[in-house]
Amino acid sequence: MKFNTKTIHGGQEYDKAYGAVMPPIYQTSTYAQTTPGGHKGYEYSRTHNPTRTALENALASIENGEYGLAFGSGLAAIDAVLKLLKPGDEVIVTNDLYGGTYRLFTGIYEDFGIKFRFVEMNDAGNTENYISPATRLIWVETPTNPMMNIIDLEKIAAIAKKHRLLFAVDNTFATPYLQQPLDLGADIVMHSATKYLGGHSDVVMGALVVKAKELAEKLRFIQNASGAICGPMDSFLVLRGIKTLHVRMQRHCENGREVALFLADHPLVEKVYWPGLENHPNHDIAKRQMRDFGGMVSFVTRGNDFEKAIRVVERLKVFTLAESLGGVESLAGHPASMTHASIPKEERERSGVVDSLIRLSVGIEDKEDLLEDLRQALD
Ligand SMILES: *Cc1c(COP(=O)(O)O)cnc(C)c1O
Repeated sequence: MKFNTKTIHGGQEYDKAYGAVMPPIYQTSTYAQTTPGGHKGYEYSRTHNPTRTALENALASIENGEYGLAFGSGLAAIDAVLKLLKPGDEVIVTNDLYGGTYRLFTGIYEDFGIKFRFVEMNDAGNTENYISPATRLIWVETPTNPMMNIIDLEKIAAIAKKHRLLFAVDNTFATPYLQQPLDLGADIVMHSATKYLGGHSDVVMGALVVKAKELAEKLRFIQNASGAICGPMDSFLVLRGIKTLHVRMQRHCENGREVALFLADHPLVEKVYWPGLENHPNHDIAKRQMRDFGGMVSFVTRGNDFEKAIRVVERLKVFTLAESLGGVESLAGHPASMTHASIPKEERERSGVVDSLIRLSVGIEDKEDLLEDLRQALD
Protein backbone atom coordinates (compact mmCIF):
# COMPACT_ATOMS: atom_id res chain seq x y z
CA MET A 1 0.00 0.00 0.00
CA LYS A 2 1.26 3.47 -0.85
CA PHE A 3 1.11 6.40 1.56
CA ASN A 4 -2.16 8.09 0.54
CA THR A 5 -3.99 4.78 0.65
CA LYS A 6 -2.43 3.98 4.03
CA THR A 7 -3.70 7.20 5.63
CA ILE A 8 -7.24 6.06 4.81
CA HIS A 9 -7.06 2.26 5.06
CA GLY A 10 -3.82 1.38 6.86
CA GLY A 11 -4.40 -1.07 9.71
CA GLN A 12 -8.19 -0.62 9.41
CA GLU A 13 -10.94 -3.17 9.11
CA TYR A 14 -14.64 -2.46 9.04
CA ASP A 15 -16.68 -2.95 12.20
CA LYS A 16 -17.53 -6.60 12.87
CA ALA A 17 -20.93 -5.92 14.46
CA TYR A 18 -22.71 -3.78 11.83
CA GLY A 19 -20.15 -3.07 9.14
CA ALA A 20 -19.65 0.56 10.22
CA VAL A 21 -16.99 2.07 7.95
CA MET A 22 -15.57 4.20 10.76
CA PRO A 23 -14.77 2.40 14.04
CA PRO A 24 -17.41 3.08 16.69
CA ILE A 25 -16.43 5.26 19.66
CA TYR A 26 -16.29 2.58 22.35
CA GLN A 27 -17.05 4.88 25.25
CA THR A 28 -16.64 2.20 27.90
CA SER A 29 -14.25 1.54 30.75
CA THR A 30 -14.82 -2.20 30.98
CA TYR A 31 -16.04 -5.28 29.06
CA ALA A 32 -18.34 -8.12 30.10
CA GLN A 33 -16.75 -11.54 30.67
CA THR A 34 -18.70 -14.79 30.37
CA THR A 35 -16.41 -16.57 32.83
CA PRO A 36 -13.29 -15.15 34.56
CA GLY A 37 -10.90 -14.45 31.68
CA GLY A 38 -13.60 -15.21 29.11
CA HIS A 39 -13.58 -12.02 27.04
CA LYS A 40 -13.15 -10.87 23.45
CA GLY A 41 -9.66 -9.42 23.83
CA TYR A 42 -10.67 -6.39 25.87
CA GLU A 43 -10.80 -6.27 29.68
CA TYR A 44 -10.30 -2.69 30.81
CA SER A 45 -9.88 0.49 28.79
CA ARG A 46 -6.60 1.67 30.32
CA THR A 47 -5.04 -1.46 28.85
CA HIS A 48 -6.95 -1.60 25.54
CA ASN A 49 -9.90 0.04 23.86
CA PRO A 50 -11.12 -0.92 20.37
CA THR A 51 -11.28 2.69 19.13
CA ARG A 52 -7.76 3.30 20.40
CA THR A 53 -6.60 0.04 18.83
CA ALA A 54 -7.93 1.19 15.44
CA LEU A 55 -5.99 4.45 15.81
CA GLU A 56 -2.83 2.68 17.00
CA ASN A 57 -2.93 0.39 13.97
CA ALA A 58 -3.32 3.42 11.68
CA LEU A 59 -0.36 5.13 13.37
CA ALA A 60 1.83 2.06 12.89
CA SER A 61 0.83 1.86 9.23
CA ILE A 62 1.52 5.48 8.22
CA GLU A 63 4.94 5.46 9.93
CA ASN A 64 5.92 2.14 8.34
CA GLY A 65 6.19 0.60 11.81
CA GLU A 66 4.74 -2.52 13.38
CA TYR A 67 3.31 -1.19 16.63
CA GLY A 68 1.54 2.07 17.48
CA LEU A 69 0.81 3.41 20.95
CA ALA A 70 -1.43 6.40 21.68
CA PHE A 71 -1.14 8.60 24.77
CA GLY A 72 -3.02 11.45 26.40
CA SER A 73 -0.55 14.05 25.05
CA GLY A 74 2.73 14.31 23.16
CA LEU A 75 4.53 14.84 26.44
CA ALA A 76 2.94 11.71 27.91
CA ALA A 77 4.37 9.79 24.93
CA ILE A 78 7.85 11.25 25.52
CA ASP A 79 7.48 10.49 29.23
CA ALA A 80 6.84 6.83 28.39
CA VAL A 81 10.09 6.65 26.39
CA LEU A 82 12.06 8.20 29.26
CA LYS A 83 10.69 5.49 31.56
CA LEU A 84 12.75 2.96 29.58
CA LEU A 85 15.79 4.51 31.33
CA LYS A 86 17.34 4.13 34.76
CA PRO A 87 19.14 6.52 37.13
CA GLY A 88 22.67 7.11 35.86
CA ASP A 89 21.72 6.79 32.20
CA GLU A 90 22.55 9.58 29.77
CA VAL A 91 20.57 10.99 26.87
CA ILE A 92 21.90 13.02 23.94
CA VAL A 93 19.33 15.56 22.81
CA THR A 94 19.04 18.08 19.96
CA ASN A 95 19.84 21.48 21.49
CA ASP A 96 17.00 23.26 19.68
CA LEU A 97 13.81 21.49 20.69
CA TYR A 98 10.24 21.89 21.85
CA GLY A 99 10.15 23.83 25.15
CA GLY A 100 7.91 21.31 26.90
CA THR A 101 10.30 18.47 26.06
CA TYR A 102 13.16 20.48 27.52
CA ARG A 103 11.08 21.13 30.64
CA LEU A 104 10.22 17.43 31.06
CA PHE A 105 13.87 16.40 30.68
CA THR A 106 15.47 19.06 32.92
CA GLY A 107 12.59 19.75 35.31
CA ILE A 108 11.62 16.18 36.10
CA TYR A 109 13.97 13.48 34.81
CA GLU A 110 17.22 15.18 35.88
CA ASP A 111 15.92 14.86 39.45
CA PHE A 112 15.60 11.11 38.89
CA GLY A 113 19.29 10.91 38.04
CA ILE A 114 19.13 10.92 34.25
CA LYS A 115 21.62 13.20 32.54
CA PHE A 116 20.82 15.13 29.36
CA ARG A 117 23.44 16.50 27.00
CA PHE A 118 22.03 19.13 24.65
CA VAL A 119 24.00 18.98 21.45
CA GLU A 120 24.13 21.01 18.25
CA MET A 121 23.40 18.37 15.58
CA ASN A 122 23.60 20.37 12.34
CA ASP A 123 26.83 18.47 11.92
CA ALA A 124 25.44 15.04 12.78
CA GLY A 125 28.92 13.56 13.33
CA ASN A 126 29.35 15.92 16.29
CA THR A 127 26.86 13.79 18.21
CA GLU A 128 29.39 10.98 18.55
CA ASN A 129 31.69 13.21 20.66
CA TYR A 130 29.11 13.26 23.44
CA ILE A 131 28.64 9.52 23.81
CA SER A 132 29.83 8.03 27.10
CA PRO A 133 29.53 4.49 28.50
CA ALA A 134 26.34 5.68 30.26
CA THR A 135 24.61 6.91 27.08
CA ARG A 136 21.42 4.99 26.29
CA LEU A 137 19.29 7.19 24.05
CA ILE A 138 19.61 9.81 21.31
CA TRP A 139 16.58 12.11 21.07
CA VAL A 140 16.21 14.12 17.86
CA GLU A 141 13.71 16.64 16.56
CA THR A 142 13.83 17.54 12.84
CA PRO A 143 12.85 20.06 11.57
CA THR A 144 13.67 21.63 14.92
CA ASN A 145 11.29 23.90 16.73
CA PRO A 146 11.35 26.79 16.05
CA MET A 147 14.66 27.21 14.16
CA MET A 148 13.87 24.72 11.36
CA ASN A 149 17.26 23.08 11.49
CA ILE A 150 17.35 19.80 9.62
CA ILE A 151 19.21 16.92 11.21
CA ASP A 152 20.59 14.06 9.13
CA LEU A 153 18.65 11.08 10.48
CA GLU A 154 20.58 8.42 8.58
CA LYS A 155 23.87 9.68 9.99
CA ILE A 156 22.54 9.76 13.55
CA ALA A 157 21.04 6.28 13.06
CA ALA A 158 24.46 4.94 12.01
CA ILE A 159 26.05 6.41 15.14
CA ALA A 160 23.26 5.00 17.34
CA LYS A 161 23.65 1.58 15.77
CA LYS A 162 27.43 1.55 16.15
CA HIS A 163 27.17 2.33 19.87
CA ARG A 164 24.01 0.23 20.43
CA LEU A 165 21.90 3.19 21.56
CA LEU A 166 18.17 3.71 21.24
CA PHE A 167 17.35 6.38 18.68
CA ALA A 168 14.07 8.30 18.96
CA VAL A 169 12.76 10.97 16.59
CA ASP A 170 10.07 13.53 17.35
CA ASN A 171 8.37 13.60 13.94
CA THR A 172 5.67 16.11 14.90
CA PHE A 173 6.76 18.87 12.49
CA ALA A 174 7.42 16.69 9.47
CA THR A 175 4.70 14.04 9.81
CA PRO A 176 5.11 10.73 7.96
CA TYR A 177 3.94 12.54 4.79
CA LEU A 178 7.32 14.29 4.67
CA GLN A 179 9.65 11.77 6.31
CA GLN A 180 9.47 8.31 7.84
CA PRO A 181 12.25 8.04 10.44
CA LEU A 182 11.87 4.27 11.01
CA ASP A 183 12.89 3.75 7.37
CA LEU A 184 15.96 5.91 8.02
CA GLY A 185 17.08 3.80 10.99
CA ALA A 186 15.25 5.24 14.02
CA ASP A 187 13.94 2.85 16.70
CA ILE A 188 11.09 5.04 17.97
CA VAL A 189 8.99 7.70 16.26
CA MET A 190 7.13 10.09 18.50
CA HIS A 191 4.30 12.51 17.65
CA SER A 192 2.37 15.22 19.29
CA ALA A 193 -0.79 14.09 17.46
CA THR A 194 -2.25 17.36 18.73
CA LYS A 195 -0.60 18.95 15.71
CA TYR A 196 -0.69 17.73 12.08
CA LEU A 197 -2.00 14.20 12.70
CA GLY A 198 -5.14 15.47 14.44
CA GLY A 199 -4.91 18.48 12.18
CA HIS A 200 -7.94 20.44 13.36
CA SER A 201 -6.81 21.95 16.69
CA ASP A 202 -9.52 20.07 18.56
CA VAL A 203 -7.63 17.41 20.51
CA VAL A 204 -4.47 16.88 22.59
CA MET A 205 -2.77 13.53 22.02
CA GLY A 206 0.59 11.80 21.70
CA ALA A 207 1.84 8.75 19.84
CA LEU A 208 4.78 6.36 19.58
CA VAL A 209 5.49 3.97 16.72
CA VAL A 210 8.16 1.24 16.75
CA LYS A 211 9.17 -1.77 14.68
CA ALA A 212 10.76 -4.07 17.25
CA LYS A 213 8.46 -6.37 19.21
CA GLU A 214 10.49 -6.34 22.42
CA LEU A 215 10.59 -2.54 22.50
CA ALA A 216 6.86 -2.38 21.77
CA GLU A 217 6.17 -4.75 24.67
CA LYS A 218 8.20 -2.61 27.09
CA LEU A 219 6.40 0.55 25.97
CA ARG A 220 3.02 -1.19 26.10
CA PHE A 221 3.82 -2.21 29.69
CA ILE A 222 4.68 1.40 30.56
CA GLN A 223 1.56 2.71 28.80
CA ASN A 224 -0.65 0.42 30.88
CA ALA A 225 1.32 0.66 34.13
CA SER A 226 1.63 4.46 34.10
CA GLY A 227 -1.77 4.97 32.52
CA ALA A 228 -1.30 8.15 30.43
CA ILE A 229 -3.72 6.93 27.76
CA CYS A 230 -6.12 8.86 25.52
CA GLY A 231 -9.85 8.38 25.47
CA PRO A 232 -11.98 6.76 22.73
CA MET A 233 -13.51 10.06 21.50
CA ASP A 234 -10.06 11.60 21.03
CA SER A 235 -8.86 8.40 19.34
CA PHE A 236 -11.74 8.71 16.89
CA LEU A 237 -10.94 12.37 16.16
CA VAL A 238 -7.27 11.71 15.42
CA LEU A 239 -8.13 8.68 13.30
CA ARG A 240 -10.43 10.92 11.28
CA GLY A 241 -7.69 13.56 11.04
CA ILE A 242 -5.16 11.06 9.69
CA LYS A 243 -7.46 10.21 6.77
CA THR A 244 -6.85 13.65 5.24
CA LEU A 245 -3.22 14.04 6.33
CA HIS A 246 -1.83 13.76 2.80
CA VAL A 247 -4.15 16.34 1.23
CA ARG A 248 -3.69 18.77 4.10
CA MET A 249 0.09 18.38 4.07
CA GLN A 250 0.26 19.02 0.36
CA ARG A 251 -1.50 22.38 0.83
CA HIS A 252 0.49 23.21 4.01
CA CYS A 253 3.66 22.74 1.94
CA GLU A 254 2.38 24.85 -0.98
CA ASN A 255 1.29 27.70 1.28
CA GLY A 256 4.46 27.38 3.37
CA ARG A 257 6.52 27.92 0.23
CA GLU A 258 4.49 31.02 -0.77
CA VAL A 259 4.83 32.52 2.71
CA ALA A 260 8.57 31.77 2.97
CA LEU A 261 9.28 33.33 -0.44
CA PHE A 262 7.14 36.37 0.36
CA LEU A 263 8.93 36.94 3.68
CA ALA A 264 12.38 36.37 2.16
CA ASP A 265 11.65 39.26 -0.22
CA HIS A 266 10.17 41.63 2.34
CA PRO A 267 12.37 44.62 3.31
CA LEU A 268 11.35 44.47 6.99
CA VAL A 269 12.32 40.83 7.35
CA GLU A 270 15.89 40.08 8.28
CA LYS A 271 15.95 36.31 8.12
CA VAL A 272 13.62 33.47 7.14
CA TYR A 273 14.00 29.92 8.43
CA TRP A 274 12.37 27.42 6.09
CA PRO A 275 14.21 24.30 4.86
CA GLY A 276 12.97 24.77 1.27
CA LEU A 277 14.98 27.97 0.78
CA GLU A 278 18.18 27.32 -1.12
CA ASN A 279 20.19 29.39 1.34
CA HIS A 280 18.95 27.28 4.27
CA PRO A 281 22.12 25.73 5.76
CA ASN A 282 20.68 22.18 5.64
CA HIS A 283 18.71 22.52 2.41
CA ASP A 284 20.54 19.57 0.83
CA ILE A 285 19.77 17.21 3.72
CA ALA A 286 16.14 18.37 3.67
CA LYS A 287 15.93 17.61 -0.06
CA ARG A 288 17.28 14.12 0.48
CA GLN A 289 15.39 13.28 3.66
CA MET A 290 12.01 14.96 3.15
CA ARG A 291 9.44 14.74 0.38
CA ASP A 292 8.67 18.49 0.65
CA PHE A 293 9.49 21.24 3.14
CA GLY A 294 6.40 21.68 5.29
CA GLY A 295 4.25 24.53 6.48
CA MET A 296 6.30 25.75 9.44
CA VAL A 297 8.12 29.03 8.77
CA SER A 298 10.05 31.16 11.27
CA PHE A 299 11.39 34.66 10.66
CA VAL A 300 13.13 37.55 12.39
CA THR A 301 12.08 41.16 11.82
CA ARG A 302 14.77 43.66 10.87
CA GLY A 303 16.60 45.32 13.75
CA ASN A 304 15.74 42.43 16.07
CA ASP A 305 13.31 44.62 17.99
CA PHE A 306 11.16 42.85 20.62
CA GLU A 307 8.38 45.48 20.54
CA LYS A 308 8.18 45.46 16.75
CA ALA A 309 7.83 41.67 16.62
CA ILE A 310 5.06 41.82 19.22
CA ARG A 311 3.22 44.47 17.15
CA VAL A 312 3.46 42.30 14.03
CA VAL A 313 1.88 39.26 15.71
CA GLU A 314 -0.79 41.43 17.34
CA ARG A 315 -1.83 42.92 13.99
CA LEU A 316 -2.27 39.65 12.15
CA LYS A 317 -5.93 38.93 11.40
CA VAL A 318 -6.10 35.69 9.38
CA PHE A 319 -3.20 34.21 11.38
CA THR A 320 -4.36 33.68 14.98
CA LEU A 321 -1.88 34.46 17.74
CA ALA A 322 -1.79 31.15 19.60
CA GLU A 323 0.39 28.33 20.84
CA SER A 324 0.39 25.07 18.90
CA LEU A 325 0.64 24.32 15.18
CA GLY A 326 -0.39 21.91 12.49
CA GLY A 327 -4.11 22.71 12.29
CA VAL A 328 -5.97 23.73 9.15
CA GLU A 329 -5.96 27.35 10.34
CA SER A 330 -2.86 29.54 10.23
CA LEU A 331 -1.32 30.38 13.59
CA ALA A 332 1.44 32.77 14.62
CA GLY A 333 3.54 32.49 17.74
CA HIS A 334 6.28 34.39 19.53
CA PRO A 335 8.50 31.58 20.86
CA ALA A 336 10.54 33.69 23.32
CA SER A 337 7.42 34.66 25.27
CA MET A 338 5.20 31.66 24.46
CA THR A 339 6.29 28.12 23.52
CA HIS A 340 9.92 28.57 24.58
CA ALA A 341 9.49 30.78 27.64
CA SER A 342 10.41 27.77 29.83
CA ILE A 343 13.95 27.72 28.36
CA PRO A 344 16.37 30.19 30.00
CA LYS A 345 16.99 33.28 27.79
CA GLU A 346 20.72 32.63 27.45
CA GLU A 347 20.20 29.06 26.32
CA ARG A 348 17.34 30.13 24.05
CA GLU A 349 19.41 32.73 22.26
CA ARG A 350 22.33 30.34 21.83
CA SER A 351 20.10 28.23 19.58
CA GLY A 352 18.78 31.31 17.72
CA VAL A 353 15.47 31.92 19.50
CA VAL A 354 15.96 35.71 19.74
CA ASP A 355 13.30 38.10 21.06
CA SER A 356 12.10 39.11 17.59
CA LEU A 357 11.66 35.60 16.23
CA ILE A 358 8.14 34.86 14.96
CA ARG A 359 6.97 31.33 14.17
CA LEU A 360 4.18 30.67 11.69
CA SER A 361 2.17 27.51 11.29
CA VAL A 362 0.90 28.13 7.77
CA GLY A 363 -2.60 26.73 7.35
CA ILE A 364 -4.53 25.68 4.30
CA GLU A 365 -6.47 28.89 3.62
CA ASP A 366 -6.15 30.74 0.27
CA LYS A 367 -2.57 31.86 -0.09
CA GLU A 368 -3.61 35.37 -1.25
CA ASP A 369 -5.32 36.00 2.09
CA LEU A 370 -2.31 34.76 4.03
CA LEU A 371 0.16 36.93 2.10
CA GLU A 372 -2.11 40.00 2.36
CA ASP A 373 -2.39 39.47 6.11
CA LEU A 374 1.39 39.31 6.53
CA ARG A 375 1.81 42.35 4.27
CA GLN A 376 -0.56 44.56 6.29
CA ALA A 377 0.91 43.40 9.61
CA LEU A 378 4.49 44.11 8.53
CA ASP A 379 3.57 47.47 6.94
C1 LIG B 1 3.49 20.14 20.85
C2 LIG B 1 4.75 19.40 20.74
C3 LIG B 1 5.11 18.43 21.68
C4 LIG B 1 4.26 18.15 22.91
O1 LIG B 1 3.03 17.61 22.58
P1 LIG B 1 1.69 17.84 23.44
O2 LIG B 1 0.67 17.12 22.65
O3 LIG B 1 1.46 19.33 23.51
O4 LIG B 1 1.94 17.27 24.79
C5 LIG B 1 6.29 17.73 21.49
N1 LIG B 1 7.08 17.97 20.43
C6 LIG B 1 6.77 18.90 19.51
C7 LIG B 1 7.69 19.12 18.35
C8 LIG B 1 5.61 19.65 19.62
O5 LIG B 1 5.32 20.57 18.70
